Amino acid sequence: MTAPRTDRGDRPTERRAARSPVGLDARFDAPTRERLRRRLLQRGSMLSSLLADMLAGNDRSWLVAALGFERPGIRPHEAIRGALDHVERQRLHLIGGDDRYGRCDICGADLGVAALDAMAWADRCASHRAS
Ligand SMILES: [Zn+2]
Repeated sequence: MTAPRTDRGDRPTERRAARSPVGLDARFDAPTRERLRRRLLQRGSMLSSLLADMLAGNDRSWLVAALGFERPGIRPHEAIRGALDHVERQRLHLIGGDDRYGRCDICGADLGVAALDAMAWADRCASHRAS
């Protein structure tokens, strides 16, 4: 005699899907989410090596400037730490199925796959990029 089967745990795919908001899954298919997740990881790892390098006392201000992270009144390593936090936040949104991922922080416009493929951590649309 077999043990009575319960519904619980029999449909891992459905249960996983139920945890994620519909929005993000509808906007990006699984291969796209995986590709963007990898890009965010690569970016995060590049920034954290750079930060470690700077905290070890190496002057990397030329690289900070080249990457476009120079901000008046902000020390280079703080700018990199801020960028790293930003990438990590975006990564958590993406893997957590948070629909804020890939949208403009200000107006909520969907940035689209092409823009995110170019910059997976983007959070501003063209009209709000300068602000
Ligand atoms: Zn916008």
